[in-house]
Amino acid sequence: MQCPCKSGFEYTECCEPLIKRKKEASTPLELMRSRYSAFVLGEVGYLIYSDTHSSEADKEELLAFSKGVEWIGLSIVEANENVVEFKAYYNIGGKTELLHEKSRFIQVEDKWKYDTGELFHSKIERNISCPCGSGKKFKKCCLR
Ligand SMILES: [Zn+2]
Ligand SMILES: [Zn+2]
Repeated sequence: MQCPCKSGFEYTECCEPLIKRKKEASTPLELMRSRYSAFVLGEVGYLIYSDTHSSEADKEELLAFSKGVEWIGLSIVEANENVVEFKAYYNIGGKTELLHEKSRFIQVEDKWKYDTGELFHSKIERNISCPCGSGKKFKKCCLR
């Protein structure tokens, strides 16, 4: 299957080795993409593993969010040494929501981890090409 992070690669060659912890993310961008895929796939254990502030106590809440929404796609706005700005789109209750976040990552014992995020209240652009990757306009595809 195509990787949920919309990289265009197969899941097995993209985010799966990270989610299954066969290897560590080499950049914050890789980690961010794999965390998005983990949200799509409900891989809550990995979400907790890759986040400095999450613990087993957050499992139910993470799983409810992960499974409670219909994920559309991810677009990366900007990525540098320790910051990734992204837009993740999903449908919930028949409406499209945009999660626009600038995430900060830190290294803990040589492993990249999600640290904090700054949220932006951005409007959804209806005329962009659909984040699902169909090539259609958002408003004519997954936008609700
Ligand atoms: Zn991926
Ligand atoms: Zn679409």
